[in-house]
Formats: sequence, structure tokens, C-alpha cells
Amino acid sequence: MPRVKKIEKKDEKKPRKKMTPIQTVRGMKDVLPPEQTLWDHVINESRKMCQNFGFGKIETPVVEFSDLFERGVGELTDIVEKEMFVFETRGEEKVALRPEGTAGIVRSYIENGMSKWSQPVKLYYEGPMFRYDRPQTGRYRQFHQFGFEVFGDPCPAVDAQIIYLAWKICQKIGLKNITIQINSIGCKECRSSYKNVLTDYYEMKINKLCTDCKRRLLKNPLRLLDCKEEKCMQVASSAPQIIDSLCTGCHDHFKNVLEFLDELELPYVLNSSLVRGLDYYTKTVFEVWASDLENGARQLSLGGGGRYDNLVQSLGGEPTPAVGYSFGIERVVEQLVNAKINIDMRMKKDVFLVQLGDKARKKILRLFDNLIDANISVGESVGRGSIKSQLRIANRYSSKLALIIGQKEALDNTVIIRDMESGMQEVVTLEDAVEEVKRRLS
Ligand SMILES: [Zn+2]
Ligand SMILES: [Zn+2]
Repeated sequence: MPRVKKIEKKDEKKPRKKMTPIQTVRGMKDVLPPEQTLWDHVINESRKMCQNFGFGKIETPVVEFSDLFERGVGELTDIVEKEMFVFETRGEEKVALRPEGTAGIVRSYIENGMSKWSQPVKLYYEGPMFRYDRPQTGRYRQFHQFGFEVFGDPCPAVDAQIIYLAWKICQKIGLKNITIQINSIGCKECRSSYKNVLTDYYEMKINKLCTDCKRRLLKNPLRLLDCKEEKCMQVASSAPQIIDSLCTGCHDHFKNVLEFLDELELPYVLNSSLVRGLDYYTKTVFEVWASDLENGARQLSLGGGGRYDNLVQSLGGEPTPAVGYSFGIERVVEQLVNAKINIDMRMKKDVFLVQLGDKARKKILRLFDNLIDANISVGESVGRGSIKSQLRIANRYSSKLALIIGQKEALDNTVIIRDMESGMQEVVTLEDAVEEVKRRLS
């Protein structure tokens, strides 16, 4: 390719300029190794708990047709109106980076014929979500969620089970001062009568509302209840409550959910202004709140969920009841950091390798390989010279044993096994080393 060559030559003649380093895109964030330990802790405990509750993992693409969210999450929601990363592909498809997890999973449930599987279908997921939100501390345009969904079971016990699982995960992660905020927003029927009551109320107060709320009032009055504008919050505080408008079916469902929660002794709070920012919910909605003791006990929502009995059908599937929950991993990690919750962040390694001199270093590499093959976790610091600095690193890994090869051992094909707790040392042949380590670890 002569053209390319020419350009290269031309570039070479230019004086070298210092390149401006490229930075992360606004609202995006790197997660570096020290923080990863907390992430791993949160994700591992959540995964384990979901598996204990019989959930299987699902992964759906980050990119979906933007229609999916317009129809699923709702055109009048903040997410779809203002916050979606929408773009056209080279093939002129209108797509979006997913702003939340549920719509994609419902799409997958329908597309893969999961209604033919034995019900209920229980799925959990984790991964990045994208919202073109105003970046502020602790909130990013790419953030991560962990969530779980149950399809095909209308029973209030399942709502309670989802809430219980959300609660158990908080316990396992080590979060303190957690409450469950819960409400019912009814079904299509009783919600439409509530919407009338609510519209009447808000029309009398229309001058006290923000522009967004004025606009939304006719199409979706429910959203006015969770507007974050100070003046709208004041109007919302004395608005009629949906509980009083629930039909018998929805009322009984909610009562049953609360009875199950009582049975499980979960600390819930009835919160009539909780409507969640998404259109697809029916009946039970809930959020998990943490009191942020550092900031004057401010309440912080870590995640939310609820029942969405119409979503599968409205996205083209069979009528299928469903309920789910998701939490923000960044939020939970931040909470762990703020609350100074102690998580053992040391990387544990069963054995640590120490060497002195080039010959020993070569033997150590071979020994490292044999130990890894025997499924023993190994720490090393082959780049370092002094035994003292290597043993210091061994302590950081809280290894039970150190295997030391000095100049003499390298010549004799032996290795010193040192018990890090007692300090007792023993010399064995290199050949026997792996077996001896296994024996001492078991
Ligand atoms: Zn109802
Ligand atoms: Zn408002």
C-alpha cells in the first residue's frame, strides 16, 4: 500500500508533539483493582443467593431496538424522553443502549418461547446500563445493575419472595440500616379510576406545578407523584392515596403480600408516594432504602422493583404475570464504603513463592506451574530480589505456606516449606513439593 507509506514518511518529518491524553467520556468511569474487590463481593454474594433461590442466569445484549424501550418502559417516562442513548446504525436501524434490564429480558422471554418452559421461569442478570443523565457524584451514564425476574406466577407469595431475596442479598453483602418501602399502584382498572381522582386534585393545583408536570398531567398523572421538584413534592404530599382506590383484587393481593412480609419479619414501610419511574408496573412496587448515617440519615434508594403483569403481553407475548427487582451496583458499593463496612479485602493465596538468585527464579517458575495445575492458589513476586521484601508480600496475601528456593536449594533441587503461622521450616525435594503442599493444606 504505497499511499500509506507516503503518509508515514511525511509524519516522520514532523517534530514530535506531546499527545493530549484521551480521557473517559463524560459520565463514564473506570473501576480499578482496589474497588473490584468490593464489586466482586457484591456480585458474588448476589449470584450465590439467586442460585440458592433457584434462579438461572440470563445475558441479553446491551443494544436493542429503541422501540423496545419506548413500548416497554413507556414513552412518557424520563428514561425514554430524555435519558436514552439512541442512535442509528450503519444499517439504518434505530437502536438504543439499554437504560434498564427488564425490557430486554421480556423481549428474550417472548423471542425464545420461554412461556413453553415449565413456569415460573426465574432469571437473574447483571451488567452495564446506560442513561444520558446529568452526571453527579455517585451517578454515572454507564452504571451497573444486578437484577432478577420471575415470570408466570401471579401469586402474592412470589412478590414477597422477590422482596425477601432482595433483603437477603443486602444482609449477605453486609448492608446495615436497610428498609423496604412498599406500595401498590393497582391494575389497569383501578389505576384509571385513581388517575381521575388524581387529575381532579392536580388540576386544582396546576399553578403550583413545574412545566414537566403540567405537560404530563393529562397523559400520566401518576408520574407527578414522584417529581423531584420541591414545589411538586409539596403538592404530592397531600394528594389522594392510591390505596383508597384499589379494586378488591388488587387490595387483597397487596394485603397478602404484606402478610407474607410480616411472616418473614421484614422491616417494611408503607409509602403511598412510591410509584417508580417506569410505566410497566402493576400492583406491588417497592424500593430498598439505606439510611445514609454520614449525611444526616438521608435515605438513599439502592434499588427497586415490582410486579409487571401486562408487560409481556404489551411487547407481543402471551399474557404472563411477572415480578422483579434490580439494584445499582455502584450505589451498593458506595454504601459499603460510606458505612465503613469491613470486608476482608485481602487476596488470599494458599502458598507464596520466594526465590533468591537467577537459578532459583527459573526453578520457581516451574514450581509455580505445577502448583497452578494442582489447583493451588499461588502468590509470587518473581520481580523482587530480597527475601525480606518477598515475605512482606506473602503476609499481604495471608498465605498459609511459603515455599522458598535459595541458591543452595536451587543446586540441590530442594525447596524449603515454611509454615507462615508457626515459622516452622522443612526441606523437601522439588519433586515432592506439590504433594507435600497438598497434604498440609488439606
Ligand atoms: Zn385493581
Ligand atoms: Zn414537577
